[in-house]
Amino acid sequence: MKGLLLMAYLDEKWETMPQEKLMELQLEKFKKQLRHVYQNPFFRNRCAQSGLEPDDVKTREDIKKVPFTIKSDLRDNYPLGLLSGKWEDVVRIHMTSGTTGVPTILAYSKNDIEVWTQCMARNFVAGGMTKSDIVQQAHGLGLFTGGFGFHYGLERVGAKVIPTGAGGTDRQLRLMQEWGTTVFTGTPSYAAYMAEIAIEKGIDPVKDLKLRLGFHGGEPCSEGLRKRINERLGYRAHGGGMRVCYGLTEMGGPMSMDCECECGQHVWADHYLVEVINPLTFEYVQPGEPGELVLSNLSFEAMPILRYRTGDRVVVDSETCACGRTHPRISGFLGRVDDMILVSGTNVFPSQVEYVLLKHPELSENWQLVVLDKRGLHSIKVEVEPVVGCQLDEDFIPRLEKELHDYLEIKCGVEIKPVGSLPRFEGKAVRVVDKRN
Ligand SMILES: [Zn+2]
Repeated sequence: MKGLLLMAYLDEKWETMPQEKLMELQLEKFKKQLRHVYQNPFFRNRCAQSGLEPDDVKTREDIKKVPFTIKSDLRDNYPLGLLSGKWEDVVRIHMTSGTTGVPTILAYSKNDIEVWTQCMARNFVAGGMTKSDIVQQAHGLGLFTGGFGFHYGLERVGAKVIPTGAGGTDRQLRLMQEWGTTVFTGTPSYAAYMAEIAIEKGIDPVKDLKLRLGFHGGEPCSEGLRKRINERLGYRAHGGGMRVCYGLTEMGGPMSMDCECECGQHVWADHYLVEVINPLTFEYVQPGEPGELVLSNLSFEAMPILRYRTGDRVVVDSETCACGRTHPRISGFLGRVDDMILVSGTNVFPSQVEYVLLKHPELSENWQLVVLDKRGLHSIKVEVEPVVGCQLDEDFIPRLEKELHDYLEIKCGVEIKPVGSLPRFEGKAVRVVDKRN
């Protein structure tokens, strides 16, 4: 049950443009963008190394000749080595926290902010938001790209925005009650935490709150976690649902979201080119097969990046959606390559662990994966908490260990922790504790 669908559009002509037209437009914009970035010494050298000149790209097939850009290119050229527009036209700079090294930055022109706003507003309308909605926007408003992109898009829709930013959970809940907030945005882990605190305080989100839509992103979210948030924050009971959001700083921040059909996050093809490659051969995968997402920013002026290898393993569905939108959807998000941990030769994705854990209603959504190092021997265990008031059977641990082993193809211990003892997160959750040197 997905509630009453509004099926409204912000820019109907663009959102439902025939796919052949979209593809022609993409090629024209890609060629123009390639000539633009060619002004920048980094991109010009990169092209020269492949013997490529901008005029060599004439057909869609030729796009494959253009070299990829990768994360380290952004870091190596910090701060402004990838700027293709004019510095005097830059009006905004966002960056990642850079806690693990050089931050990734993105500079925006006035027009870039306009494109971003338009993409986000389309997303919100596609997700079922209207002018009447009262929105608590709890993505951080700061260096991180998320909060501002959300804020502009929400204002463009004409919704009533309360820019709470992240954190201050007691106040968030109080405002939800006082204002009858209908839409909540933030990370999925913060939404789960909000539900937990509400229940602790004796607030029943279904009866005492009016939340009907959640736009949650900034970290991977399993279907299990989405289902829980939908139930516990009352989105489904109030006729709406949780829409997953996807984006990355390198492409300008949050950029794509679920529409009301909740069958994948639409990427606006008039502004972004989507390619899916096999990360080993760099060839395109067959339609519907998983591969690494490669994105090109077709509209930004200041720091557009072409053929950016996102490191995200996805499945893309290019069929026209039931909502009528012709733009491709990221229909399966299989984790970030960066999130992957290698343990004794096996790749483990935290999203796989969450998938197994949240099939168990007796477990809370708070968990942690610990990588252990016993004199050079590496192993993993997962720490979980039962939900309040739930007693776990004696055979729960061996059953869960077997399920994890079957799914991850590596032995994984299970430790039950007391209720409330594992860390909670108001922003992005940190699920992996790596104790190896
Ligand atoms: Zn759709």
